[in-house]
Amino acid sequence: MIPVSAEDLVRFRRAGRPELAEQIVPGHFGDEAMATRADGACVHLGRPGLPHHCSIYEVRPNICGEFERGSWQCHEARRYAAREAVTTG
Ligand code: SF4
Repeated sequence: MIPVSAEDLVRFRRAGRPELAEQIVPGHFGDEAMATRADGACVHLGRPGLPHHCSIYEVRPNICGEFERGSWQCHEARRYAAREAVTTG
């Protein structure tokens, strides 16, 4: 789950994207998070012709910008997603 902070919600509104706040779901420990698709991916993953790009890149949650490609967190998330696919697939 991709946590969404109160600061993110304010940024959505200021950027003229209040509808993004309507795509928030309950997350862990009372936090809020981005909704996910049936395959577990964020609902904002993918642009026309660019399936691996963020469709809300300019206003994406802060945590998305802090998630460094190739970091141990990235590898851990990929391992977790693969494990989920095996257990639910
Ligand atoms: S970068 Fe975009 S597509 Fe990826 S998790 Fe964040 S909001 Fe979703």
